This record gives sequence, C-alpha cells and structure tokens, in this order.
Amino acid sequence: MHTVIVSPYLDGEYFALSPGRRGGIRISEAKYLELSAAADSPAWFPEAASSVWGDIDLEPFTDKVLVRQPSSYGYVRATYELNLGCNYDCEHCYLGLKKFEGLEWPDREKMIRDLQALGVLWFQLTGGEPTIDKLFRETYMLSFELGMMISILSNGSKLHDARILEMLTEHRPHDITISVYGATEASYDSLTRRPGSYRKFIKGVRAGHEAGLPLKFSLIVTKHNADEQARMEGMAEELGIPYSTFVNMSPTIYGGAETLPSQSLEHLRKRKTFTGCNAGHTFFHVDPHGMASICKIGREPNIDLVAEGPEGMYRLGEIADSLLLRQGGCTGCTLQGSCGTCMPLVQLYRKANSPLANYCQHGHPKEVNAT
Ligand code: SF4
Ligand code: SF4
Repeated sequence: MHTVIVSPYLDGEYFALSPGRRGGIRISEAKYLELSAAADSPAWFPEAASSVWGDIDLEPFTDKVLVRQPSSYGYVRATYELNLGCNYDCEHCYLGLKKFEGLEWPDREKMIRDLQALGVLWFQLTGGEPTIDKLFRETYMLSFELGMMISILSNGSKLHDARILEMLTEHRPHDITISVYGATEASYDSLTRRPGSYRKFIKGVRAGHEAGLPLKFSLIVTKHNADEQARMEGMAEELGIPYSTFVNMSPTIYGGAETLPSQSLEHLRKRKTFTGCNAGHTFFHVDPHGMASICKIGREPNIDLVAEGPEGMYRLGEIADSLLLRQGGCTGCTLQGSCGTCMPLVQLYRKANSPLANYCQHGHPKEVNAT
C-alpha cells in the first residue's frame, strides 16, 4: 500500500502528500509527469521526501508512490455523510432526525470511485456518527486505496474498537476530529442524552492518543456545558491535542428550530465577514443517499451522483452561484458588506424562524447604528 500520494491540485499545481504525516511537497508539472511515467524512483524524489517526512519507505516505488491522474472536473475536496444515524441524541445537533440510512456497498463503491474521478484528494468522512456505519471500514479503506487524504469527524465512541484502531493505525488518516461535549460525566452525558457516553469518549480518546493517531478536538459549547469551557480547553492542552471551539448553534438541515434553544447566549459570537466561498466549485458535499450538494448547509438543489455519475456534477457550479446570491430579505441589504452569514445559512435560519440576533446584523441595533 502507498505511503505517498502524488496528485494534481488546483490551478496547475501538483503536490506529493503522505497520509498521516504533516507537510507536503509542491512539485512542477514536469516532475509530476516524470513521477507519473516512472517505474523506479527518480533520483531527486527520495531526498525531497525525506527532507519533509524524515524516514519514509518509498520502495518498491510503484507500490509505495500512488500517482493520481488529472481530472477535468476541478474538485479537490468533498465531505461525505456515510449515514445520518448516531448513537447520541444531542439537542444542538443540526442533523435533526438522524435516520439510520446509507448507500449499500455496490452504489457506495461506485460513488467513491466517481469521487476519485472528480479529483477529490481531501476527503472528510462524517455522519451522524461515521464509525457506527456498517460499511465504515470498507468505505475508509477504498477511499484510502484510491489515494485520498482522509479526515474523520467523530464523537470518538468507537475509536477504542480494535478493528477500527488497527485499520487507522496501519492506514493513517490525515486527522480525526473528535467532538467534545463536556469535561465531566454529568454534563457530557446530559448533553448527549446517553448515559455512559462520556466514558466511551474517554476510552476512545485514550486509545487513539496512545496509538499516536492525529487527533483534534472540536469543543462544542452549548448552554448545557458553558461553564466547563475552560476545563474542556484544559483537557485538550493536557493531552497536547489541538482544538477549535464552536459556540454558534445552527438550525437543523431541514430548517428546524429545535436546536436553537441549546445556544449559550453569552457565547453567541459574531461570525467573520462572509467574503465568498468555493462551495460547489472546488468542493462539495454528499449525503447518505449519494446526493451531491454545494455543501452541508446548501443541500438543495442537489445532484444524484449514483444515478448521474461525475458528468452530472457539471451543473453544480451554476447551482452554487444561484444559492450564494443574496436574495429575499437580503436583496439590497446595505449591511451585506459586513455580514458574516452566507445565503444558504440565512435561508435555514429564516425557515426556522430564528431570532434575528442569531444570524443577522439587523438583530443587533447598536451595531447597525454604529455603521
Ligand atoms: S455554509 Fe455557506 S460559507 Fe459554508 S460552505 Fe456552505 S455556502 Fe460556503
Ligand atoms: S445583515 Fe441580515 S439582511 Fe443583511 S445580508 Fe446579512 S443576513 Fe441578510
């Protein structure tokens, strides 16, 4: 199995990357073509590789170095929800109903191969909880074999499972981001509404950490655990795990408002000004049924990737352009230039009849007056 992926990227760039290792090598088109045609390693390559990754096994060359073919579609990143089902029931979860449904293997395999043909190099596996999907390991391994750099979003509850741990240790993901729902058993279990979930989280984190997996934390601050933010950060720092903190809760993907009461109002943070987004142009999202959309938020219109194959994706750019245009109450808004909420997200908040303060500057009278 490969230790290095050589791949075209955007705008005529080419990279060599190594799953589970930080850093990469930017290479010229001429060097990409040289690697692509080589049966043995060109003399310059092992030196370049060891200067970035240290000791790395590159022999036999054709086994250890996987050269990805160019794609005319221009996509390099995708996210894939294997299944919306989850073993937890968090109030803030933007997935709403969380049905246990996903593609069976023949369709899933075809779709993952189509993602490769579309050029996807950075691939995020998410859910629901992806590790409880019955085809998680098959999905991961095929994506790995096809030369994707894989990220996993998980609650960590199955990371201690020997078969999963062994697979991830031998075929390393780029990173595993674990959501953290509290720093104590009481707050964690009451947020997930699943007794025993904190213990599973700790067990998974310990197992992954001891196995040297590239863990990251995503600290989720809601009104249920707001007073534990510092302790959650301390937990990450003690383990030396990098973390990000999420404080703004969204409506569900169906525009449901049931998630919004979990918002910790004192943590509600003004979003960075929205300056545009490549959703639908260089990246996209695929739901459990193989429906491809511009991103996790702007889910409709979408394209049936299983039925239409990669060719169907030529329409996605146009869909993205129309979804991102300011519309409805945002048309002509004089505060657009400093707005932090993209149009697909505004649409969800509107559908959920959310208070304006959660997403729109017109809900902040003082800031409006100040501009
Ligand atoms: S939610 Fe908005 S900013 Fe985020 S990817 Fe989708 S369109 Fe872009
Ligand atoms: S500030 Fe409010 S009305 Fe203006 S563009 Fe943003 S969400 Fe729309």
